[in-house]
Amino acid sequence: MPAGSGSPSRHRKTSSGPVSDAGFVLDVRNLGRRPGTLREMHRTVTEHGRLGLDLIAIPADAEVELDLQLQAVSEGVLVTGTASGPTVGECSRCLEPFDDQVQIRLTELFAYPDSNTEQTTEDAEVYRMEDDLIDLEPVIVDAIGLELPLQPLCSPDCAGLCPECGVRMAVAGPDHGHEILDPRWAKLAQFATDAPGTGDPAEGSTHPDRSAPAAADADVVSENQEEK
Ligand SMILES: [Zn+2]
Ligand SMILES: [Zn+2]
Repeated sequence: MPAGSGSPSRHRKTSSGPVSDAGFVLDVRNLGRRPGTLREMHRTVTEHGRLGLDLIAIPADAEVELDLQLQAVSEGVLVTGTASGPTVGECSRCLEPFDDQVQIRLTELFAYPDSNTEQTTEDAEVYRMEDDLIDLEPVIVDAIGLELPLQPLCSPDCAGLCPECGVRMAVAGPDHGHEILDPRWAKLAQFATDAPGTGDPAEGSTHPDRSAPAAADADVVSENQEEK
């Protein structure tokens, strides 16, 4: 996972820099490493980078609500719950900006520094706790990336842009159209105008094939006529 490979550097940063129980970093010391100990946690995080994908994301420093349950287990701390926040996106069909909300579910184990899990797994497999601190940011970045759509829409039935002139169909209205409404109708219309003459010019590729047998028939007819 790309974000997993990015987490070690983040962890290094947390251990060297000034760390505290703030933002996406949780201090879990008060769980006391007693398996079964449970703590509910609610927090609004307002200092963070942009969280999401190219076309849609939670903007930097927008309010992200954390509703979590922290549970001490034998190998570490299990974090479950939700993170939710407002998103700003650009519709992949009509290119208009739009607002939405995203909520992600989290279930993540943070291994104790000296636990079996910590010894027997890679950094990218299981998150680590450092100095009784849990950094949720890489977890949230991963989960939001998976939750948000790669091709976001302003509404499920967004009509997009007019393929002829590029105007937004939502603005132009259902009556908007150009001379050629629909390829199928256009063909019917052409057929109707061509039908009376059974005109050759518009017949296109079928024309040469048809003309050959028609000429042969004509010869046969004329021969018959001569015999009579
Ligand atoms: Zn749209
Ligand atoms: Zn148009």
